[in-house]
Amino acid sequence: MLEPAPGTLEDRVGELLERLSNACGIAGGEGEVRELLREALEPHCCEVYTDTIGNLVCRRGNGPVRVMLAAHMDEVGLVVAGHEDSGLLRFKESGGLDPRVLPGRPVLVGLAKMPGVIGLGAVHLLDADDREKVPPSRELLIDIGAGNKEEAVAVAPPGTPVFFSTRFERLSNGRVKGKALDDRVGCAVVAEVLLGPERDGLTLFGVFTVQEEVGLRGARVAAYHVAPRLALAIDGTSSANVPGVDPSLTCTDLSEGPAISVMDGTVVMDSRIREQLASLASRHDVPYQYRRLTTAGTDSGGMFLQREGVPVCSVSVPCRYIHSAASLADLGDVAATIRLTNLFLDSLDKGEFEL
Ligand SMILES: [Zn+2]
Repeated sequence: MLEPAPGTLEDRVGELLERLSNACGIAGGEGEVRELLREALEPHCCEVYTDTIGNLVCRRGNGPVRVMLAAHMDEVGLVVAGHEDSGLLRFKESGGLDPRVLPGRPVLVGLAKMPGVIGLGAVHLLDADDREKVPPSRELLIDIGAGNKEEAVAVAPPGTPVFFSTRFERLSNGRVKGKALDDRVGCAVVAEVLLGPERDGLTLFGVFTVQEEVGLRGARVAAYHVAPRLALAIDGTSSANVPGVDPSLTCTDLSEGPAISVMDGTVVMDSRIREQLASLASRHDVPYQYRRLTTAGTDSGGMFLQREGVPVCSVSVPCRYIHSAASLADLGDVAATIRLTNLFLDSLDKGEFEL
């Protein structure tokens, strides 16, 4: 059984995040991540179940106000789509990948995690113009060392998932590097909240959703059967406060706390929830910022339109280089997101905030 390590909140959540980041699961194949979370949370929850499409639902408490926290388990990656006579694999993308990160990248193929590489033509064969171009993914092939098509089909048939081969590592200043931090940071936040105190006034559902990266799908089904009074989506979002990016386009700043969304491409956040989150953060000295981008989407957009409508808000952990092979987050931001989520739940539990 997976137990959080003792020590500070940052240490504990860092240990869980490492396991979550190293686990693999693209949309529709989230089983390894789901199993890790189920093992960690089952002993602490009143009820844990997997619904018909793979969402993991964990309930704490039985109080009058039903609250849902959503974090998605799937990561961006690739799917084997065909085979060359030579044994090389053709692939399609799963989720919105940055095409610049694919060429030459080491990958893990299938749940057996067979090593491979996204192959490139030899650089010394390129002319000067070609060196400036990013080859489209349809021209790239994965090499797993197979000697012919039959061998390749046998070990990596069509539909086999492919993951980036990136191990989680701790950097300096409490920052960490890993694959899939979008949204394993959110999974770590929701798990840590579920491991915390039970609240008499709430029925808290921590829901780990499927297929967010391909259309916010799991959250829609989960919000229907959970039927929450209100919901938060906890996600990893872009943070581009790096050289060469105009400050107005950075979306969020790393190490400046959780980012509260005002709107995105799928939903306008409930202003009462948003203002309550900001007010609690200010009063309790939790750093926070607003997400300065109004496009893209999170599970909030999926939950919002269920049943009679669900008031939602997204709270995101800033992550640099998301939707690539390796992203970077600050454990201080993750811990602050946990604190803010707990403050929000406390305010609902005590009746200080109601909708
Ligand atoms: Zn995400």
